[in-house]
Amino acid sequence: MERLLPDAGSPVRENLLRIEETVAAACREAGRAREEVALLAVTKTVAPALINEAIRLGVTRIGENRVQEYLGKKDALLLKGVETHLIGHLQTNKVSKIVGQVDMIQSIDSLHVAQAVARTSQRLGRVTQVLVEVNIGGEEAKSGVPADQAAELVAAMGEIEGIRVRGLMTIPPISDTEKQKRDYFCRMQKLFIDIRDKKIDNVSMDILSMGMSSDYREAILEGSTMVRIGTALFGKRAAVLR
Ligand SMILES: *Cc1c(COP(=O)(O)O)cnc(C)c1O
Repeated sequence: MERLLPDAGSPVRENLLRIEETVAAACREAGRAREEVALLAVTKTVAPALINEAIRLGVTRIGENRVQEYLGKKDALLLKGVETHLIGHLQTNKVSKIVGQVDMIQSIDSLHVAQAVARTSQRLGRVTQVLVEVNIGGEEAKSGVPADQAAELVAAMGEIEGIRVRGLMTIPPISDTEKQKRDYFCRMQKLFIDIRDKKIDNVSMDILSMGMSSDYREAILEGSTMVRIGTALFGKRAAVLR
């Protein structure tokens, strides 16, 4: 938040301050340093002008869901010093469009897509930072690798040139109670530590991306190192994009 500028009256400014307070309070409650948790502003369906306002207010990471939408907005964004992440499901036919255009892809859930990302990365002479998306609730309609196959996928990805696994990402099932929310995040944290302890070659398990507008406090209490926040920062989205 070093670049926080006064911009009285903007809802984004108010929202950002409130989020920052909640993040700081959750870190204190968990006995963690504030620096352990990064904020990713989720900018799907948000107009470039509003995204730029958030960036001017100190946001240094943004995440988009859809390749096409991101590529359409990218040139209007003030991205100097800002990390960009793809957080939505990635289809193989979009891989060549997005590799090289974002700093990290958080939503890899199969060896097939990982190999496609690696191939394009190698062609461009780069290494793409990736997270493995885990379907921690085992929900049928959701993307993500099943929890019991995550370690195997990470290990297989460690052997591919052109990508670097940096950690895990998840979208847990919608839960009503704090206990339910924390249970899923707790399971993710255990999985993350288990895989990290394997010390797999060419894999750095340093990012655990979990927590959204409705549950980022609980995610931080259970060890999240990156919260992905859309609505709480920019307000309700006009359209629901997944
Ligand atoms: C939309 C989205 C978010 C942010 O959701 P909010 O509830 O608006 O904070 C986070 N992660 C992913 C993968 C998303 O698609």
